[in-house]
Amino acid sequence: MTATELRVQGIPVSRIAAEFGTPLYLYDADVLRSGYQRLRAALHPAVDIFLSLKANPNVSVCGYLGSLGAGAEISSMTELLTVRRAGIDPRNVIFLGPGKTRAELEACVQAGLYAIVCESLDEVRQVDEIAAAADRDVPVMLRVNPDFSARGTGLTMGGKPRQFGVDVAQLRGARAALSGLRRVRVRGIHAYLGTRFLKAEDIVGNTEQVLATAAGLADDLRIPLDTVDFGGGFGVAYFDNEKDLDIESTVAGINAAVEPFVRAHPGVRLINELGRYLTAWCGTYVVRVLYVKESQGERFAIADGGTNHHMAAVGVGSFVKRNFPLRSLTRHTDEPTGKYTVTGPLCTPNDVIGKKVLLPEVAAGDLLGVERSGAYGPSASPGHFLSHGFPAEVMVLNGEAHLIRDRDRSEDLLAKQHLIPFA
Ligand SMILES: *Cc1c(COP(=O)(O)O)cnc(C)c1O
Repeated sequence: MTATELRVQGIPVSRIAAEFGTPLYLYDADVLRSGYQRLRAALHPAVDIFLSLKANPNVSVCGYLGSLGAGAEISSMTELLTVRRAGIDPRNVIFLGPGKTRAELEACVQAGLYAIVCESLDEVRQVDEIAAAADRDVPVMLRVNPDFSARGTGLTMGGKPRQFGVDVAQLRGARAALSGLRRVRVRGIHAYLGTRFLKAEDIVGNTEQVLATAAGLADDLRIPLDTVDFGGGFGVAYFDNEKDLDIESTVAGINAAVEPFVRAHPGVRLINELGRYLTAWCGTYVVRVLYVKESQGERFAIADGGTNHHMAAVGVGSFVKRNFPLRSLTRHTDEPTGKYTVTGPLCTPNDVIGKKVLLPEVAAGDLLGVERSGAYGPSASPGHFLSHGFPAEVMVLNGEAHLIRDRDRSEDLLAKQHLIPFA
């Protein structure tokens, strides 16, 4: 180990890399916990925090947040199994998604989830059929496609034709359809307006509008407003042209909107579902430099992992590429000496995890880390491209490093393929 290398809870990163190999995703459970607890302490007590497993579906990441009190928002059969294994109480789990299969709906009914979030009236009817056949009452929430356009997100979910939820106008006219249900109990409204919000006033404004829309719909439909899920989508700054969300004013604004709403609807459960904001901070994508070389005046550090595990690091912008925060972990405290373009092992020029990044000297064997990478990492990346497979994941908890996902081996990948006889 070098004198200046990064330590995570006292453990030198070189020791973790030697024990588990590279590339790997490294999660610091202290960061995961303190981020969650800070938010939990600040948010109005009527608001429950649910982890969107989409952002990080690792069973230990979700289990750890669950042990701290978080619920979960899930969207597939495997995510359902994950939260069950992680020990999250089904009464703190909701299942959503525009294309749920009958098998998924049946599994949700059997699991006794807090609610199935239905995205069409046909889906509500299908759940009712399944509920009647299972002789159970089944709570659902109705996902609404709001008629206002969300502010401050690149990925707008409201005020546009969308495959998600039911348009407000359609839902308003759905009282007759809902009153004929046998075993479905509509318990509230769900809305999700988008992701990567970085301005407090946008999140607060959207939350106010969702709460108002939910109250209006409950009146129109004469349903009890037992629960409102007002989404989340809190952003994390990745690029140098972005500023971190002011979480204090975000939470203060949400609480100010929530307080009168709770007074008007006593006992209402509010849900704030978050993926990125809960998990991004704790994770670092760790790669080892294999070669340093120069081409036409540009220096390249070629690493053993790249965009195959971290597609988001490709960045944004077609002309000026913007980089994720990238550091030397080996020479963590050294001053930058020059620029390196950090690339991975793929045979495509797009496999760039950092373009002309200012770094301390980089040598073969060094460890580099892409920070703020605990959300939308491997699970949102083309891990099978060039058949490298997915990396190991390691969580440092209470000063000890634990393997929480095995690295894919060639055998794992090939086991799914079948060589047929050609003769
Ligand atoms: C993706 C998604 C989330 C999580 O979004 P983040 O921006 O990661 O917080 C929450 N709810 C729904 C419905 C989603 O599709």
